[in-house]
Amino acid sequence: KNYLGQVTSSSLLYAAQNNLTQANVPTYQRYEQYINANGYQLLASLSKQTLSVTDAINEIEKSNLKGLGGAGFPTASKLRLVKAEPAPKYFCVNADEGEPGTFKDRHYLSTAPHQFLEGLLIAAYIIDANKIFIYLRDEYPAIHQLLHNEIQLLVNHKIIKEDYIEIRRGAGAYICGEESAMIESIEGKRGIPRQRPPYVAHHGLFGRPTLVQNVETLYWIPTILTDGGEHFAQQGKNGASGLRTFSVSGRINKPGVIVAPAGSNIRELIHLAGGMLKGHSFKAYLPGGASGGILPSSLDNIPLDFGSLTEYGCFIGSHAIIVLSDKDSIKATSQNLLAFFNDESCGQCSPCRVGCEKASSLLSEQQWNKPLLKELCTTMADASICGLGQAAPNPILSSIKYFSDEV
Ligand code: SF4
Repeated sequence: KNYLGQVTSSSLLYAAQNNLTQANVPTYQRYEQYINANGYQLLASLSKQTLSVTDAINEIEKSNLKGLGGAGFPTASKLRLVKAEPAPKYFCVNADEGEPGTFKDRHYLSTAPHQFLEGLLIAAYIIDANKIFIYLRDEYPAIHQLLHNEIQLLVNHKIIKEDYIEIRRGAGAYICGEESAMIESIEGKRGIPRQRPPYVAHHGLFGRPTLVQNVETLYWIPTILTDGGEHFAQQGKNGASGLRTFSVSGRINKPGVIVAPAGSNIRELIHLAGGMLKGHSFKAYLPGGASGGILPSSLDNIPLDFGSLTEYGCFIGSHAIIVLSDKDSIKATSQNLLAFFNDESCGQCSPCRVGCEKASSLLSEQQWNKPLLKELCTTMADASICGLGQAAPNPILSSIKYFSDEV
């Protein structure tokens, strides 16, 4: 109901989403099952001080765990930064998985919520967070119900206090996956990115030091503390560390979540995804959802990891791999991606607001004006406030670089 007590359409939507029957909730590891598998013992070790905070951070450092929402910032460094800040401190979990082609966080939240929650509570303990907000993508109503139920169980079992963890629903804005826009949204404002510095680790939610972590990053923390940081790190290949959860989709036989060594290449991922669809031959791939650019099939042996695609003008981001075939048009793909950015630009700064619109219109021309597009892309990448406007040119520039004949 709104403040006048009237039932609004959004409240009806909320009610509909929260009246989910049990049948809508996916099968997942329940609280009892997690406890029987030694769940929450690491958290107990921290509070009993049989595991020190310093040792926990050191182990996470050895694992080389990075922010798997897409930024790839070292997790241990972020924990140390926020730990050193004065109280009160907040912890915002970014579960607003909005990058096109990304669905790995949904997978973990809907199959192993307690491993995620224990990772979250360990990180909260390390930084001594006063309160945790989980900013959850609104398109995941079943997960909302599931998390709500399981968090209540943690309260009932006195693992956390009532209201220590609050779930906030996103409202479908892609930009609210950007950490400072997410914080604005949690504060009840319009979700637009902040200028930095100051960084959110020092001046975040309600002006207080804030830790922001992605779901998958937190999911790995109990594994790392159980098996050891080095063990986790050693599972990478080609110079990369650890495991990654790739969301693989497109013209392949088995689209879905694939856990593979960091540094795997596209050929290996296509193989794990059951190969190309019948009648399709591998032509290109998007290594990082909408934002990471487009690579040709000839570049099929690049180790996919943070930083490894920079020289190709691309990035891995949240590890959303979209496989294109000879049936797909690069031109249409770029147009589609720019239409998406144009739609999702928050409009705060003109290089992005005007740039996305201008680029969309230039891409719809029969023959692309490549010099003009390149100039526009440089302005957008150099002068936009946040990652959306800075990355929006990637599909255009990589289309021009690798598929010049087509565009
Ligand atoms: Fe908003 Fe785009 Fe500027 Fe980011 S780059 S602040 S999304 S207008």
